[in-house]
Amino acid sequence: MTPSDWDGLGEVFVAALAISDSDILAETRRIAADWEDKLEGLVWDDGLGRKEGRIWIPESDNLWKKVMGLYHDSPVTGHLGTSGTLELIGRSYWRRNLAAWVKRYVQGCHTCRRAKHRNQREFGKLQPIPAPDRPWQWIQLDFVGELPKLSGFNTVYVVSDRLTKMAHFIPMTTDISAPDLMKLHIRHIWKLHGIPLVHGTD
Ligand SMILES: [Zn+2]
Repeated sequence: MTPSDWDGLGEVFVAALAISDSDILAETRRIAADWEDKLEGLVWDDGLGRKEGRIWIPESDNLWKKVMGLYHDSPVTGHLGTSGTLELIGRSYWRRNLAAWVKRYVQGCHTCRRAKHRNQREFGKLQPIPAPDRPWQWIQLDFVGELPKLSGFNTVYVVSDRLTKMAHFIPMTTDISAPDLMKLHIRHIWKLHGIPLVHGTD
């Protein structure tokens, strides 16, 4: 995946996650104002402190476990690696030592460790993604293009299943909005196959 591919996929995830992060924001509003060790340079509005557009979530382990539950463990993101998880969180939230926190959490994640272990046992170290048990549990997301415009489309969103190698090819334009991309993803993939366990983005 190139960085611009990741941009598109990141938008899909962020749009999906934004639906369900109200719980995290509510708790942040409840504790942020009285948090003793506030991050410097925040701009406060509506009970939330922002820095460069990103919301500061106080460095409470409880609260950050909720963030990771949503941005790493949830079926939507499906246990992305450290850099993918960091990239997703970094689009919306901020804390001190964000990278170190995310790295430690992902390294300690039982699902990630089980997947890695199974991978090494069955395939050796060259295969980066472990074998799925059922179709459409471990999917690969890619963009092909930018291509010359054809019938109004200039890229193809390819979603493939690692087990059966079946794929869906969804024509779209590179300037699609995040909510529209999310809708397409739900309509073409989740409706047919359910929500996968793991999204491959390598
Ligand atoms: Zn994990």
